[in-house]
Amino acid sequence: AKEQGRAIYQFYLPQMNERAVARLKIETQLRGALARREFVLHYQPKASLTSGEITGFEALLRWQHPAHGLVPPLKFISVLEDTGLIVSVGEWVVRTVCDQLNKWQSQGLVLHPVSVNLSARQFQQQDLDSVIGKTLEMTAIDPHFLEFELTESVLMKEAEAAANALQNLKAFGVKISMDDFGTGYSSLAYLKRFPLDTLKIDRAFIRDVTTDLDDAAIAVAMIKLAHSLGLKVVAEGVETRAQLDFLIENGCDEMQGYYFSQPLPLERASQALIQGYRL
Ligand code: C2E
Ligand code: CA
Ligand code: CA
Ligand code: CA
Repeated sequence: AKEQGRAIYQFYLPQMNERAVARLKIETQLRGALARREFVLHYQPKASLTSGEITGFEALLRWQHPAHGLVPPLKFISVLEDTGLIVSVGEWVVRTVCDQLNKWQSQGLVLHPVSVNLSARQFQQQDLDSVIGKTLEMTAIDPHFLEFELTESVLMKEAEAAANALQNLKAFGVKISMDDFGTGYSSLAYLKRFPLDTLKIDRAFIRDVTTDLDDAAIAVAMIKLAHSLGLKVVAEGVETRAQLDFLIENGCDEMQGYYFSQPLPLERASQALIQGYRL
């Protein structure tokens, strides 16, 4: 058994090295990307299911790579998280969103809340709330136009830190949204424990909502649950008219998804605001 263990060890070691080297390479590239300002935000609009109008945007990170083009977050977010680089990048995201809100305002546009995703790793920072507080002060935006999205796994991994930080963030006047609702654990306990404003139904439940009776029942229950707790409810990943009709019929407040709009580069998000783009 000992011999075999050693054989396996020798077999895996070079592969693990290769992986570690590849990761180190990405880490170095990501540090460079931050320094060279290669990160950009795209803005995906959300729509009201009663008026059809834009109600807000979600800011979504992309890496504008000089050779590979626009790189989606699934390719690099986990490296940012594992290396702790997400802390600096996350601060950049909040600052950029606040600056953008000021620009839209100075262009005379009607403002809508913009939401920013927060990773568990950002709550391990002692001063997450004070860093955000300083950004709010420096940019002087109305905090009601800033919203933070957290998943249940963030709340599970960093329950204590998150509870404290979220209370402080709420005191600034920002909004808090539970992202990917239904995909994590102990959803119901978290709804009571944390100061939430909004619940986002994960797109896994929306996908088959018009064909799968179980998904339909779950989606309806989530909408009722959110409303009975005084929360706004947003459906994610809405791609078809049939899904939209189902959500309207069942009293969901807002939607986000390709049926309304993809995440848009800044210029096109501004255009959508100027033109009053609607469902
Ligand atoms: P998320 O927070 O759940 O964001 C929604 C994702 O769903 C986005 O993917 C969006 O483009 C995609 N999406 C929107 N509508 C539809 C639809 O109708 N159908 C389908 N199939 N997909 C739709 P994206 O932009 O690739 O982002 C992926 C994830 O990366 C996000 O999931 C979020 O967890 C993470 N992420 C993005 N930006 C940031 C950031 O600034 N900070 C942190 N910590 N995480 C981020
Ligand atoms: Ca999100
Ligand atoms: Ca989501
Ligand atoms: Ca997600």
